[in-house]
Amino acid sequence: MSIGASLVGFHTSIRPVVAVDGTFLKAKCLGALFIAGCKDGNNQIYPLTFGIGDSENDALCEWFLQKLHDALGHIDDLFVISDRHGSIEKTIHKAFPHARHGVCTYHVGQNLKTKFKNPAIHKLFHDAAHAYRVSKFNFIFGQLEMIDPRAARYLMDIGVDRWARSYSIGKRYNIMTTRIVESLNAVLKNARDLPVLQLVEELRNLLQKWFVTRQQQAMSMSTELTMWADGELRSRYNMSATYLVEPINSKECNVNYAGISAQVNLDTRSCKCRQFDLDHIPCAHAIAACRFYNISCYTLCFKYFTTKTLLSSYSECIHPTGNEIDWVVPNHIRDKVVLPPKDEMPNRKTKESKNSFWWRGQEHISL
Ligand SMILES: [Zn+2]
Repeated sequence: MSIGASLVGFHTSIRPVVAVDGTFLKAKCLGALFIAGCKDGNNQIYPLTFGIGDSENDALCEWFLQKLHDALGHIDDLFVISDRHGSIEKTIHKAFPHARHGVCTYHVGQNLKTKFKNPAIHKLFHDAAHAYRVSKFNFIFGQLEMIDPRAARYLMDIGVDRWARSYSIGKRYNIMTTRIVESLNAVLKNARDLPVLQLVEELRNLLQKWFVTRQQQAMSMSTELTMWADGELRSRYNMSATYLVEPINSKECNVNYAGISAQVNLDTRSCKCRQFDLDHIPCAHAIAACRFYNISCYTLCFKYFTTKTLLSSYSECIHPTGNEIDWVVPNHIRDKVVLPPKDEMPNRKTKESKNSFWWRGQEHISL
């Protein structure tokens, strides 16, 4: 199920970074709920697509991703984030041959904790994953490698470009995890007990409410940027107060602070620290440069972070389904026979993995 209002907003106003995950359903027929979601310009969850299947197997994962592709169509610069499930990567490439794929750093971190049982490794992994500069990544990863070469090998085998933003080939902005989906799972905690039809209606109803409240919230924002992006920019502005700017030409300069320099190009919206390039919000160096050249740093933020774009993310409304007696159902839909699941659902003796839906019964066992 993809609701038209979400798809319209996604195509016009949302960063094309889609997190995909799933959760178990707990009603009589059990089954699995697949979710694809993004983040809006105010860093809030923006649900895109839901799918319901009878279990969490590979064929269903492929089915859901194909349906997701059908709903979204081709998207330039699409970035898909998932857990590191054995087959999902292959399936993502099949459904979205042009998209980049990243893994969820939260889940990689949790598995590192379980496998290597060393908090220092987990901390270094986190810092390396979030480093903007390649040189900083190399420095941190070198330390990790010295402490535990096996952990370093494990991370290398995943593919550094999949989890470290400094090496990321596609644009993942500040989105490093699939926790978008997990947060949605938390919201749907009670809904997962409902029979399928009621669950679907609950999802639609949730989106209807979110679209109304967020549209009102966007309308009440008096800043050029969304509340979240404005907060980010302000904290970077405060950091930049003592930065020293040495001009190179009318758009380029060198910015110095505490013995470390970074070269900014306001024309290409780039800084050697790479935070500006990757987040698409000016870094403290770029803000210092803007002040020097008397340019508004707001104009250098990506369009996704403006209040105007946030408003257009929620410009469409979601209508209730109304009374069933009033529905006009086409014959080709009315004639479809929907049967209950063919096989008896597997007995879930094991506790749900805290780590991940996809990993259950896969790599998790070998840890
Ligand atoms: Zn910078």
